[in-house]
Amino acid sequence: MDNNKELIKQYPFLRVKNTYAAGTWTSCWLDDLEPGWRTAFGEDLVKELDKAIKEDGCEDTFEFLQIKEKYASLRLYATGYGDKTKEVLAKYEELSKYICGHCGQVATRITRGWVYPFCDKCARKIGQPTVPIEEFYETTYEDILDEIDHIKINYRYDDYWKPIK
Ligand SMILES: [Zn+2]
Repeated sequence: MDNNKELIKQYPFLRVKNTYAAGTWTSCWLDDLEPGWRTAFGEDLVKELDKAIKEDGCEDTFEFLQIKEKYASLRLYATGYGDKTKEVLAKYEELSKYICGHCGQVATRITRGWVYPFCDKCARKIGQPTVPIEEFYETTYEDILDEIDHIKINYRYDDYWKPIK
């Protein structure tokens, strides 16, 4: 799954369309994913997205606009999609909160100031002040591990984004 050309051939929605320079037709949206997140769930994200885009029938309209990290989680900005695709995008944004963005292990620390999820090892390498992830999310570490399993197995958009009453 590391070869952009192969990836784009199999999953056309990964091709970055708004690039001009020679050779960049192989620019792949996955390159904008933090390396740890790509390692941890890049392949699952692409496979589930592919299935959802087909189920939604939005192969001709779906397009990524931007992929980035913001406030310690992944943001997948896209357009032209339906409900099934929305679920997949939101699922992986949610999951990313608990995964080290540098190596893909379960995160244990969040940096202060510029917030970003790290495992112990990567946090030490970065050398910035951090807080334990359970403190940042005001929960227990056990609950974070449960939450990761829950998101992977049983994510439902409506459970996370409740309409304001
Ligand atoms: Zn790490």
